[in-house]
Amino acid sequence: MSFTAAVLTLYPEMFPGPLGTSLAGRALAEGKWALDAVQIRDFAADRHRSVDDTPAGGGAGMVMRADVLATALDATAARHPALPILAMTPRGAPLAQARVRRLADGPGALILCGRFEGIDQRLFDARAIEEVSIGDYILSGGEMAALTLLDACIRLLPGVMGAASSGDDESFETGLLEYPHYTRPTTWEGRTIPQVLRSGDHARIDAWRKAEAETITRLRRPDLWERHGGAPGRSPSGARHEDGTKS
Ligand code: SAM
Repeated sequence: MSFTAAVLTLYPEMFPGPLGTSLAGRALAEGKWALDAVQIRDFAADRHRSVDDTPAGGGAGMVMRADVLATALDATAARHPALPILAMTPRGAPLAQARVRRLADGPGALILCGRFEGIDQRLFDARAIEEVSIGDYILSGGEMAALTLLDACIRLLPGVMGAASSGDDESFETGLLEYPHYTRPTTWEGRTIPQVLRSGDHARIDAWRKAEAETITRLRRPDLWERHGGAPGRSPSGARHEDGTKS
């Protein structure tokens, strides 16, 4: 069984969207993952096929109805009983690479995309739904957030990135941000690729990359650095040798 993305949305035409191109698109065509984009409105019971209503207690905007969403969710979950149920919401747990890895290792995800002001709280109270956020900003809907989550998962599926890269060395996988990359030309606008990377000495290159990753993480993401086990005083000195390596 391939990784399955079942997406509940008011805009199924947004899927696969960008995931229909490049690595993810090829993987979809090859059956390495499958997509089931479900129109929530198809589960509305009334003549107007309404999926939302005004907020209880007043206020701006509209709220997605629990009854319609539950019908859509239950029908979709019945077709995909193995999938964990996620909802993209700004108040959800911030998405991180560890969660992406676990999802990619599993059967897929059933993802509920919100719109308007959000979803009637009773749906979350009545169903086991994991709320996931992709960051501290507000999108107009959960679809872009779902596409982001799915892209992060799909590239990790077996055979999608190819044998050359497992993604193991990338930012967050090691608990650190990644070291800087360079490629030809050797000199560009007077800037030269650090000598160590041209030395062919793989032990020195590995040590340089590790030191760079540690310094970048310490300076840019002290929160990650601390979680990684870095402590003030224990961090790389920042002093550089001529070839760009650190003390
Ligand atoms: N009223 C909500 C609030 O203040 O938290 C924002 C609703 S937003 C306009 C509409 C939908 O977009 C949400 O229900 C959610 O599905 C999605 N969304 C917006 N920002 C998101 C984020 N940072 N992460 C995940 N989903 C998000």
